Amino acid sequence: MGRKPLLAGNWKMFKTVGEALALVRKLKVSIGQVRDREVVLCPPFTALKSVSEMLSDSHLILGAQNMHSEKEGAFTGEISPGMLADLGVRHVILGHSERRHIFGEKDEGISRKVPAALAAGLTPIFCVGEKIEERQAGRTHDVVLGQLDGGLGRISKDQGEMLVVAYEPVWAIGTGHTATPQQAQEVHALIRRRLIDKFGPAAERIRILYGGSVKPENIDDLMSEIDIDGALVGGASLTAESFSRIVRFRVPVS
Ligand code: PEP
Repeated sequence: MGRKPLLAGNWKMFKTVGEALALVRKLKVSIGQVRDREVVLCPPFTALKSVSEMLSDSHLILGAQNMHSEKEGAFTGEISPGMLADLGVRHVILGHSERRHIFGEKDEGISRKVPAALAAGLTPIFCVGEKIEERQAGRTHDVVLGQLDGGLGRISKDQGEMLVVAYEPVWAIGTGHTATPQQAQEVHALIRRRLIDKFGPAAERIRILYGGSVKPENIDDLMSEIDIDGALVGGASLTAESFSRIVRFRVPVS
């Protein structure tokens, strides 16, 4: 199944508007001509408009890091799906482990965001992943499947193929400890089977990204695995040099 690789940069709470534009300027030069893979940049909310304008003549895609599930309302400090779409945002990260574990987001709330994003024309990058103690207790599969079932329970069978899913083991995020390609592939294959059970054969088209300390040094091996269709990259997406190399991954010929 030919799934176009997708490389997404999650800039988290880094980059002022000026810094974001300087990075985008460099990325347009270094990866602006890459056509056989999709590249999504997820700056902080404050830089979305400026980055959107700078990307208007580029095929690099604008993404956001979070959103509220409601269209509008008295939700101080929140941003609606429609507000993101209005700025030219096309993808949105939902259920990132930092949202789950630092800000207390639960499957129930995330499950409302997924259809809300789709209704606004946004592609959810829906994140799952186990903590280290869960892995050590042999609970990785239960946790990941529970998050998939809990977060994707409010969309129809037809909507499944519009998703992007990211497997991000919490112990690998920002720690420098990447999952081995084999560890990642095992969970990606599990996720793929569950997505097919839920959404039917069209789920073969869903891209499943790996996230957790992806770097120029490990992207080639990760991308060699059959069910790894791309990467969600935090720290290494903050400089043009490292992110460009990740986007330009090369799968070793076996
Ligand atoms: C992330 O933020 O989703 C992430 C995977 O971060 P890092 O690449 O820094 O581990």
